[in-house]
Amino acid sequence: MDLYEYQARDMFEAHGVPVLGGEVAVTPEEAFAAAQRVGAKSGGVVVVKAQVKTGGRGKAGGVKVAKSPEEAQALAAQILGMDIKGHTVKKVMIAEGAKIAEEYYFGLLLDRTNRTYLAMCSKEGGMDIETLAVEHPEKLARIAVDAIDGLDEAKAREIIAAAGFDEADVPALVNVLVTLGDVYAGEDATLVEVNPLVKMEDGQIVALDGKVTLDDNAGSVTPSTRSSSTTR
Ligand code: GDP
Ligand code: MN
Repeated sequence: MDLYEYQARDMFEAHGVPVLGGEVAVTPEEAFAAAQRVGAKSGGVVVVKAQVKTGGRGKAGGVKVAKSPEEAQALAAQILGMDIKGHTVKKVMIAEGAKIAEEYYFGLLLDRTNRTYLAMCSKEGGMDIETLAVEHPEKLARIAVDAIDGLDEAKAREIIAAAGFDEADVPALVNVLVTLGDVYAGEDATLVEVNPLVKMEDGQIVALDGKVTLDDNAGSVTPSTRSSSTTR
């Protein structure tokens, strides 16, 4: 089961992954009120984000910056009801505006062929990781994560080093990757993806867009059958 972005955001927050404020709205009026609250921390700037279970929302016009609650309301009116790749937008998230310095990528997923987890990380995140993976595979670090050890601090350092991050960003990135590993293991996820993972102008590392897929079989079968269930 795929979660909506706002559900992933709330899950990240509960596990201590750094995220920005965000509230879901289903009408333009709700978007106005949410923008008043959420924007209080970011000088009134919010981002109106279509909540659909597909990527490429930004390119489709489903992610727009608003500088006031009035503008957020108008943008919500535009985005609600929009069709994005066959998905009708029924909810928007009003997210706290971020002063982005850099956009990175991080993903943790099940590697069924090797029966391990696979971490993928890049300093070049943002909109199009699939294109990056095809055109510049050397810029996407791929590191196997042992199913027993999980994403511990040593593994996080290995991933971060492989992606070539600056030394100054390592401590904050280690914290974010380890807590994302906690989300993965603690929530029975088969995918936890953050794109973009951003460095803000003040140096903070924040998960700006999250995608989480939960294992539909989690808890419904015995542990011995679970490791061999490859029928999805
Ligand atoms: P996706 O296209 O469906 O993956 O949607 P994202 O949430 O990743 O948004 C696409 C792009 O919009 C990001 O790569 C950012 O560049 C931008 N964006 C998203 N949230 C914010 C924000 O809070 N502030 C600013 N300035 N840009 C944002
Ligand atoms: Mn994204």
